[in-house]
Amino acid sequence: MTTPQPAPASPLAPAWLPAPGDADALVPGLWAAGVDRDDAGRLTVQGLGAPDLAAEFGTPLLVLDEDDFRARARAFRSGFDAAFADLCGGADVYYAGKSLLTLSTARWAAEEGLRVDTASGGELAVALRAGVDPAHIGLHGNNKSDAELTAALEAGVGRIIVDSIDELEHLAALAAEQGRRAPVMLRLTPGVHAHTHDFIATAHEDQKFGLSLAPATTDRDGNVAGRSPASVAVAAALAAESVDLLGVHCHIGSQIFEADGFGLAAERVLEFLAQVKAEHGVELAELDLGGGHGIAYTAVDAPRPPAEIAAALADDVQKALERLQLACPRISIEPGRAISGPAGLTLYTVGVTKTVDADTPDGGTAARRYVAVDGGMSDNPRPVLYDADYTAVSAARTSDAQAVLTRVVGKHCESGDVLVRDVYLPEDLGRGDLLAVPATGAYTHVMASNYNALTRPAVVAVAGGRARVIIRRETQEDLFAREADPRLGR
Ligand SMILES: *Cc1c(COP(=O)(O)O)cnc(C)c1O
Repeated sequence: MTTPQPAPASPLAPAWLPAPGDADALVPGLWAAGVDRDDAGRLTVQGLGAPDLAAEFGTPLLVLDEDDFRARARAFRSGFDAAFADLCGGADVYYAGKSLLTLSTARWAAEEGLRVDTASGGELAVALRAGVDPAHIGLHGNNKSDAELTAALEAGVGRIIVDSIDELEHLAALAAEQGRRAPVMLRLTPGVHAHTHDFIATAHEDQKFGLSLAPATTDRDGNVAGRSPASVAVAAALAAESVDLLGVHCHIGSQIFEADGFGLAAERVLEFLAQVKAEHGVELAELDLGGGHGIAYTAVDAPRPPAEIAAALADDVQKALERLQLACPRISIEPGRAISGPAGLTLYTVGVTKTVDADTPDGGTAARRYVAVDGGMSDNPRPVLYDADYTAVSAARTSDAQAVLTRVVGKHCESGDVLVRDVYLPEDLGRGDLLAVPATGAYTHVMASNYNALTRPAVVAVAGGRARVIIRRETQEDLFAREADPRLGR
């Protein structure tokens, strides 16, 4: 065993990042349940050593703790079902496939009793091929093509979440033409927006998604001045012969840690349902409150267990139902990241390291160490896209060396190609060492690219202490698969 050296605080470190007592420690809450360190100091996943996984499958490698994924899926299912059992007869959980959709993950979600949300014809095709019951699939998207809408109608998906008046009219016509009925949820924008540790409430909606609850001032593009796009859409959906209006939907953002944002959105949407009842004499049967449940990427994030979020939300829903004299609609939610994110970690191999002098906020200089790994923005674009923070630990060994402020960067031709902006790592970490980045299950594999003609990593699932490839590593030959000029033979 090694003796950890407490890191001296760097003036370059952001305020949220304390200098750790032991940079090799696995911070609780950041890692999949099967992750640990063995006596030799190696990071393990269900007992499988990171160096062995790296040797067998190569790096970069996305490792999924399948048992952890399944446990999180079950926790959402049982937590929400229990919280809404008395009030509404339970709740349905749709796994937001877009966070990490493969045949395997769609199958895991379905086997754990979840339904699956898709956001395109491609995602729909994956869910169907995985064997998910079409009646348990939802199709989202603000601009679905005719081919996508037709595929959904043909497959008999349980719900098509309609995003605009334009789309509602188009889908109604398409379904009528095909002699089918479209099962429709209307996506509403309740004017509640999540901002990670807080939410803001606004009256108007200036975004591409959804039907606003606020009255329109113009008569353009399907709007009726003085009426909300949401109420215009409900009237149109109820009037359309080819549409079954199931209910309404809202999704207020992502990385949400508290239930109050969800609760306020639910209240606003329930008020709208009361208005629909008064106007049309119809109580809509279903209410989807979306996804966005937060996860821990670094030690500062403290998500609450699904059952707690569910209980707080059920309280808010109950109060609103009583006040509005409404029966409870069937409740559903759509968590993605909170199921797939923490189940994943990415293993990288360290290559080049260097230390530079960096300017400190107070006009001095301080050392910043750069550790470059064999992946980057092509396997995890979230730091570049969203300024997302991650952390990392040494995965093949622990170290006696002092921990120093480090920036983990990729190998792309972009100075912005950062994977972990700030983390304290042992100073002797160098070529050939392994790094593990936790919470990379969501929005990494599905957002991966071939930028700089890098090949995309394999995805390995670990279950019952055994690892298997569920997505093979891309080969350089794959890079030529779509080259079509017959004069350039392969
Ligand atoms: C992205 C998205 C989700 C899932 O969000 P997470 O942050 O992964 O939970 C759910 N519903 C809708 C409509 C979405 O767009």
